[in-house]
Amino acid sequence: MNNHYIVAIANQKGGVGKTTTAVNLGAALAQAGHPTILVDLDPQGNASTGLGIEADQRDLTVYDLLSGSETLASTAIPTDIENLLIVPATSDLASADVDLSQMPDRTRLLRNKLSEALPGTIILIDCPPALGLLTVNAMVAADSVLVPLQAEFYALEGLSQLLSTVKQVRQTANPELRINGILLTMSDYRNNLSQQVEADARATLGDLVYPTVIPRNVRVSEAPSHAQPVLEYDPGSKGSAAYRQFAAEFAARLKLAEEAA
Ligand code: ADP
Ligand code: MG
Repeated sequence: MNNHYIVAIANQKGGVGKTTTAVNLGAALAQAGHPTILVDLDPQGNASTGLGIEADQRDLTVYDLLSGSETLASTAIPTDIENLLIVPATSDLASADVDLSQMPDRTRLLRNKLSEALPGTIILIDCPPALGLLTVNAMVAADSVLVPLQAEFYALEGLSQLLSTVKQVRQTANPELRINGILLTMSDYRNNLSQQVEADARATLGDLVYPTVIPRNVRVSEAPSHAQPVLEYDPGSKGSAAYRQFAAEFAARLKLAEEAA
């Protein structure tokens, strides 16, 4: 039995809703009373920015966590949301693939650091849009992988590549790795294509696909420029309602108690 939960949010395609899902799932779990740490593993640092972490608060980043003697406790900083911490990222991380590739334990750097997480903590890792060393570190550290899939043409095409990376990690460094699920994002119900992609995904992937689908919602896309999750920026929006409902399904899959607080 694990005493903490580590979930990598991954898809090598950019712009599919990884960061939006990491920020809002993290916020929803924290609001429900679960101690949650978001690890920003993307050099773009969008999760850090989206949670209001200013440049001067990024003295210590995930790069220091991976490459040096810093710890999860020394690099995770509070956000404006109670129960939600973040290990921030900056563009320094862009050179990590090269810098870290010479280290002996290069795929286990994150796993080694996350093992010190306190019991009951949920750790969400926001992966970069690539299947390189950073995403592999996330998969080696994780119990499971959550895959956001944008409801658009070709959505399913990149999935086989992602699943074969998961398989490789399972055969080598992390035999316990599971697929947590597939989350359909940015769906537009006025668009037949979104419905077709959803039908295809459910036919192909079955119960792996979460019942909740995240709709395309302008409030979701506005929230990052206000440095807030949409759950804080506009709790009454359709996007917020969908992310709250998804977070409850996610917690059930992790078999978390409804209310930890
Ligand atoms: P990724 O991390 O996979 O690159 P993002 O989460 O950054 O993707 O999302 C890409 C863009 O789409 C961002 O500008 C984000 O604000 C926007 N976006 C994400 N989800 C939604 C949604 N449900 N409705 C509208 N815009 C969204
Ligand atoms: Mg992102």
